[in-house]
Amino acid sequence: MPKARKQFGQHWLRSEKALRKIVAAAELSGSDRVLEIGPGTGVLTRQLLAHAAAVVAVEIDRDLCEILAQKLGKLENFLLLQGDFLTLDLAALLNPFPAFQNPNKVVANIPYNITGPILEKLLGTIANPNPQPFQAIILLLQKEVAQRLTAKPGSTHFGALSVRVQYLAACQLICDVPAIAFQPPPRVDSAVIRLIPRPIETPVHNPHHMETLIKLGFASKRKMLRNNLKSLIDSDQLSQILEELNVNSQSRAEDLSVENWVSLSNVLTQ
Ligand code: SAH
Repeated sequence: MPKARKQFGQHWLRSEKALRKIVAAAELSGSDRVLEIGPGTGVLTRQLLAHAAAVVAVEIDRDLCEILAQKLGKLENFLLLQGDFLTLDLAALLNPFPAFQNPNKVVANIPYNITGPILEKLLGTIANPNPQPFQAIILLLQKEVAQRLTAKPGSTHFGALSVRVQYLAACQLICDVPAIAFQPPPRVDSAVIRLIPRPIETPVHNPHHMETLIKLGFASKRKMLRNNLKSLIDSDQLSQILEELNVNSQSRAEDLSVENWVSLSNVLTQ
């Protein structure tokens, strides 16, 4: 097995059980085209190739790309792209390869150090949702981030990231994966999640306002929302608006649902 490089967040998954759960969560059929980010040594890639119509894998590490090309390069349903997933133009690179265009699912054990930017590239943002959303995104990532992404309102894990991502996708926890499932083991525990991008039922009128509102609202998690938002809106006025939205005026940011945040932003920008 190649030595893991720290700068690329490399931790090789060696748990068969975790691999099986990731693949099962993707519910692959013979018509699926899968995008994998960071195939590494190809353990997950092999499984994906066995279940999907086509797999496009993007790997930044040139040495690994050579190994992968030797191992899997002969398979007709495999396309390997060497580069940085965050900066490459996937649609343009796939243009010459019709069988691999518009992958509909993402399945990946991602490098944890770039989780935020990967999520943003896959889902878009509140202001710019991905116009061609994936059908499903299955990711193995840091457990703490998984908890924030899948948290329900009222939970201590429910924060600005939960609102930003849940506005764009339904987020589901599939299973926990302990650090010893990897070689070398990361310092943190991990988890598998499934994101299903969804049509935005009540779009926010002013995405930038919504971003500011979330950022300020969650700035001090112990404080009541109306105190965190003092610089934006008079506290009594906010209490009244919250009551009209059927939200307790003493609520903290974590108590508001994504729908509450959208309504609040929309009322404030009317
Ligand atoms: N999927 C493999 C490896 C996971 S480790 C396994 O489960 O064993 C993360 C992988 O992402 C490594 O192979 C690393 O080289 C790759 N990687 C890191 N940064 C990347 C980037 N910006 N773009 C594409 N791949 C990247």
